[in-house]
Amino acid sequence: MTEPADAAQRRAIPPVICYPTDTLPQPDLALYTQARASATKCGETLVPPRDARSFGVPAGHFFRISSVEGPQVGDLNLWNKNDFSERFYSGKTRALHGTHLTTGHRMWSSFPGMRPMATVIRDTLDWYGKDAFGGSVHDVIGTRCDPYTGNLLSGTQYHHCCHSNLTRAFADETGMSLPQAESYVHDVLNVFMCTGFTRDTGQYFMKASPVRPGDHIEFFAEIDLLGALSACPGGDCSTEHSSDGAACHPLLVEVFAPAPGTLEGWTPPPPNAYDRSHGR
Ligand SMILES: [Zn+2]
Repeated sequence: MTEPADAAQRRAIPPVICYPTDTLPQPDLALYTQARASATKCGETLVPPRDARSFGVPAGHFFRISSVEGPQVGDLNLWNKNDFSERFYSGKTRALHGTHLTTGHRMWSSFPGMRPMATVIRDTLDWYGKDAFGGSVHDVIGTRCDPYTGNLLSGTQYHHCCHSNLTRAFADETGMSLPQAESYVHDVLNVFMCTGFTRDTGQYFMKASPVRPGDHIEFFAEIDLLGALSACPGGDCSTEHSSDGAACHPLLVEVFAPAPGTLEGWTPPPPNAYDRSHGR
């Protein structure tokens, strides 16, 4: 199409932030950090490469995801342990906090609960910021690698994509059949994954994760959580996923219990207060 006469003028209009976060309830990071200092480890789960494991985290506990042995990306799903229909809502989290998460950001739940499920309290990769390509770490723009897209693009039948890994882990935890369990798997937080959009074509890109063994991201559980983490078949996501071609490493999940009395004044957030009458 031919540009209108005022094309440059229209393009020059400055953007407006969709969801200004000035009124977003802020986490008490000082309280969480202080409580974490005296918390004691009460469980751990080692997630094998190209597979997933589930783990429970009671409200008021902490969980840490660590890189061990080598650079590795993880795909994280979270559910309300007492109602699996309330699950992590990656799209709304992205709308509120931006394309990548770091300390102080929260993982928000689906409607109608729409409340913080977990708050990031520590991120050893927060130094990375945004690189020259527009890339950053801990992505909420990707979905999760899955066998359907692989089949669509290359006709493959690959069974160790994060979607399938998470489906098996959730089925094992709940006793559901695979088709039942699959319907609860949702878009993830891509832990340690370095991604962005190309400036020219706006395409989703990934690049080698800057994560190294010892790096970790730590969360405070705002409600009772069931989590599942997949150690992505993409490994550090420097080349490809949806095959066994990439070097892969395990990921470690550790859970920490707060010492009695250290969370004085904190209570789990209630479900969203919208009255749900939808105008009728
Ligand atoms: Zn994956």
